[in-house]
Amino acid sequence: MKGSANGMRALRGGASRYSIFALARNALSYHENWQKAWRSPEPKPEYDVIIVGGGGHGLATAYYLASVHGVRNIAVVEKGWIGGGNTGRNTTIIRSNYLWDESAGIYEHALKLWEGMSQELNFNVMFSQRGVLTLAHSEHELKEMRRRVEAIRLNGIDSEVMSPAQIKQLVPIIDTNPGIRYPVMGGFIQRRGGTARHDAVAWGYARAADDLGVDIIQNCEVTGILRDGGKVTGIETSRGTIKAKKVGVVTAGHSGVVASMAGLNLPIDSRPLQALVSEPIKPCIDTVVMSNAVHMYISQSDKGELVFGAGVDSYNSYSQRGSIPTVESLLAAAVELYPIVSRLRVLRTWGGIVDTCPDASPIISKTPVDGLYFNCGWGTGGFKATPGSGHVFADLIARDEPNAIAAPFSLKRFETGYLIDEHGAAGVAH
Ligand SMILES: Cc1cc2nc3c(=O)[nH]c(=O)nc-3n(C[C@H](O)[C@H](O)[C@H](O)COP(=O)(O)OP(=O)(O)OC[C@H]3O[C@@H](n4cnc5c(N)ncnc54)[C@H](O)[C@@H]3O)c2cc1C
Repeated sequence: MKGSANGMRALRGGASRYSIFALARNALSYHENWQKAWRSPEPKPEYDVIIVGGGGHGLATAYYLASVHGVRNIAVVEKGWIGGGNTGRNTTIIRSNYLWDESAGIYEHALKLWEGMSQELNFNVMFSQRGVLTLAHSEHELKEMRRRVEAIRLNGIDSEVMSPAQIKQLVPIIDTNPGIRYPVMGGFIQRRGGTARHDAVAWGYARAADDLGVDIIQNCEVTGILRDGGKVTGIETSRGTIKAKKVGVVTAGHSGVVASMAGLNLPIDSRPLQALVSEPIKPCIDTVVMSNAVHMYISQSDKGELVFGAGVDSYNSYSQRGSIPTVESLLAAAVELYPIVSRLRVLRTWGGIVDTCPDASPIISKTPVDGLYFNCGWGTGGFKATPGSGHVFADLIARDEPNAIAAPFSLKRFETGYLIDEHGAAGVAH
């Protein structure tokens, strides 16, 4: 955590107490005197609301519960360290160009919150609206893309089709030779989309929530959900029992495990999703490019690493690592589309576990247990939703009713059949 705290301090915007002198002073003291960004309190015996899971979604939920709804007696309970789950493992693609109205509602709500997030949290989350381009590799894909762009624009979301020549101009390192295995036939771009610094999002929400009195309790695993009749009464943890009037569960990757503690069976599949980065190089690509047909996407980090992501591995697992064939096919596609990649070394690879619903849309919902709420199923694409998800989930917990944006994502849709099928929202679905 020490390293994280240092990076975090450097990221903070504005205040002069974080001056260059403080930086130098702390560097000379082996980085040991940084002021803590949030407290490490002992759990209280009881809270009004407990949020299980200290990823971006959980921390954002706690922040909005405190800042928008005035709830003050809140704990976020995290089994490891905050942001150590998918929040700190994702490739940070942010966009709102989904197909269905319901998805457009939640992801555009999130995108608007991203646009003001650094100011709201007084924390530089390095949100960079560099555009997200999705490629078409066949005539059929291109036609489908044109239809999709019209649908997206009907929801007031920016989206435009691009020709191969325009793509080559935007992304000079791409091979637009029509003879390659997956030729670039065109694409569509959301220019307001982009990337952000994932750790900073967790840290920014954590600091802002802590400032409002939220207790962030790390290294505390939830092992049971306590109920009295049909009502939640608290949680059992590795650090003892904590009572609560309401419990919100935001444990991406382990939602099914935590749900089973309350006797619930969620329509969720948990699978590994992998990403990797190259050694750092000079800036060569200043947008995000996704390729659905080959399950590969690319961007460049501020450090200069090329960031690559794959599609999900095809088996269920909780191991936070994926298989080599997935990485192999991702790199084969990358080398063909971006020939310079063949000269780079892979610096590191990693995986996370993503929870996916049958319709590739999330669950933001009350449950049959009174006072117990679930926010999960964001699959391969929940980072972009972080602020919107936290905002509407806080609203659901505070009012015990979903608002218009959250309502379509209730568990009820698996009974009514009113599914929101976003498979192929981008193929690789980030
Ligand atoms: C390789 C990869 C690439 C991705 N790329 C993108 C992308 O480009 N764009 C995008 O939008 N999304 C992407 N995603 C998906 C995105 O990361 C997730 O949807 C999102 O981060 C989920 O956030 P969260 O806060 O719900 O989950 P997490 O950050 O995983 O937080 C959940 C937390 O719950 C904790 N927890 C679990 N069980 C317990 C327990 N029993 N007790 C206490 N705590 C518990 C975990 O330790 C974890 O910290 C990617 C995911 C991966 C793995």
